Amino acid sequence: MRVLITGGAGFLGSHLADRFLADGHSVVAVDNLITGSQDNISHLAGNRNFEFIYHDVSNFIHVPGTIDAVLHFASPASPIDYLKYPIQTLKVGALGTHNALGLARAKNARFLLASTSEVYGNPLIHPQTEDYAGNVDPVGPRGVYDEAKRYAEALVMAYHREHNMETRIVRIFNTYGPRMRLDDGRVVPNFIGQAIRGESLTVYGDGSQTRCFQYVDDLIEGLVRLLNSDFSEPVNIGTTREISILDFAKIVNQVSENPSGIVYKDQLRIAGDPQTRKPDTTRAKTVLGWQPQVELETGLTRTIQYFTKVIDITT
Ligand code: NAD
Ligand code: UDP
Repeated sequence: MRVLITGGAGFLGSHLADRFLADGHSVVAVDNLITGSQDNISHLAGNRNFEFIYHDVSNFIHVPGTIDAVLHFASPASPIDYLKYPIQTLKVGALGTHNALGLARAKNARFLLASTSEVYGNPLIHPQTEDYAGNVDPVGPRGVYDEAKRYAEALVMAYHREHNMETRIVRIFNTYGPRMRLDDGRVVPNFIGQAIRGESLTVYGDGSQTRCFQYVDDLIEGLVRLLNSDFSEPVNIGTTREISILDFAKIVNQVSENPSGIVYKDQLRIAGDPQTRKPDTTRAKTVLGWQPQVELETGLTRTIQYFTKVIDITT
């Protein structure tokens, strides 16, 4: 296959590129580097099966030649990033998804949308099943991201129904691993960066809010299985090991042997920060035969090794 990945120089997009190349496919990565980095794909320079196109996909996407699959991953993803780029986030969710779908349609390619657990907002049912319609505040600070992704999902389903396109929607739950940006503001790089520097970890609020953290390799396996399936309804991909942010901080300190403890920063919590989040993954298990394999402590150890190198290089 020749696979096009929007957001291909980002954290997830670059791991996807590696996976498709390893499986013998060729990859076209399209990215405007707004939150990604060429460092994430520098190891692919010179690979004749890999092309990089510097382009904002909120504008018409022109790519010559055949394309068999379009995976739309372009979007600021961390809360700090999408609060910094609110209009670009709405545009890439709306116009970017439209252009990526239009490209897939013109090429007769399969389409996969990277959606998010944020479509459930601050959820009122727990764990979240795919048929839960969510609890999102459209005018809250997170609305720019949540509503962009909800619109994107609606557009994908419209193309599927109207044009009989082969489409897939993945709702990704918190994913971590090498190539996250140290300063992207998400809890994993924040905590690991602080731990490596021997600083106290900054817990926002009282730390009782929960998340489930999956290692990037598990997600990538789920994405490949979903793309290859014939299932066009949304599928949650995430772990079901639910953990409070306070407990997560304790685990990071333990795994990284950081003696500096924890400091509470209530004022840094973003309004609308979901209090709980946990996927119901029955659909991923039954439809894709997928289950996460990497334990949190193992994934954290690998990620800490990566960030230790990054901090060594930049300091
Ligand atoms: P990231 O910021 O590392 O990657 C996003 C990439 O998209 C970046 O390289 C950025 O430069 C690029 N991009 C943004 N707007 C663009 C535009 N208009 N044109 C071209 N490129 C553009 O973030 P990530 O964590 O790799 O997230 C990738 C995708 O997965 C996003 O769509 C995000 O919403 C989704 N997602 C990620 C997570 C997670 O936990 N990492 C969870 C849910 C959903
Ligand atoms: N958080 C925290 N300290 C940090 C960064 C984040 O306590 O240094 C909290 C944040 O308030 C949220 C959770 O960690 O409750 C996960 O935040 P993240 O930005 O990683 O992603 P989210 O799941 O909120 O989209």
